[in-house]
Amino acid sequence: MSKVILVTGASRGIGNNIARTLAQENIVIANYNKSQNEAIKLKEDLKKENINIDIIKADVSKRNEVKDMIKQILEKYGKIDVLINNAGISQYKLFTDISDEDWDNIININLKSNFIVTQEVVKNMISRKNGLIINISSIWGVTGAAMEVAYSTSKAGIIGLTKSLAKELGPSNIRVNAIAPGMIDTSMNSKFSDEEINDIKEEIPLEKIGKPEEITKCIKWLLEDTYTTGQVISINGGWNI
Ligand code: NAP
Repeated sequence: MSKVILVTGASRGIGNNIARTLAQENIVIANYNKSQNEAIKLKEDLKKENINIDIIKADVSKRNEVKDMIKQILEKYGKIDVLINNAGISQYKLFTDISDEDWDNIININLKSNFIVTQEVVKNMISRKNGLIINISSIWGVTGAAMEVAYSTSKAGIIGLTKSLAKELGPSNIRVNAIAPGMIDTSMNSKFSDEEINDIKEEIPLEKIGKPEEITKCIKWLLEDTYTTGQVISINGGWNI
């Protein structure tokens, strides 16, 4: 049955693939912030297949913008069945070079956004005693990564948020899970040279970098599932076992 699904950070990369795929059978609202042209392209691509998708701009780290976005969605559709907290940024820096501003920026966009968007959406889910929240963490939130301390911290925070919220919201029939991708082929990894990517592939048992579709497949499964909550699902080609 068609669900109302909000995907944050859907203009590019993993979120774009999730939104594009789920829109085939659901009402999807694709959030974006800076990449308006990519968001418009997503809408136009789907329109050619006679599929509708709503695109909506909001910086997910800002309470007032998120409030306004959720208000618009609820006025139009009356509910949000599924929230996919995907928006995120990365930063590659020595720990000693991370400024206060860098730290706040990463934590606000990657972690505080989950708190804000979820809080605004979940009131509607609780009143309907139904909902699914999927938070995109990272392999680095599980294991920690050198040169990515702020990023890893934000992604580990998402895991704590996911587990706690699953316990608090279970009685309201709301499932909360996290996905921890390994390396996925998006512009987030454009900082790595071909040589570095090849070295990484050698560390991965399945000997390849993942594609955004791998994450979407898991999300499609979670949409069907009814008994999984509080879990961190690792999709990483066996990079971390
Ligand atoms: P990406 O290609 O760089 O896309 C990031 C998306 O996040 C863009 O659509 C961007 O939208 C959005 N975004 C960033 N800041 C935002 C904000 N303040 N408000 C709203 N949207 C914002 O990255 P990706 O690889 O698809 O990453 C998606 C998620 O997967 C992230 O949470 C990332 O940490 C996680 N992840 C990725 C990998 C990987 O290897 N790629 C691995 C593990 C986890 P605009 O451009 O419109 O601002």
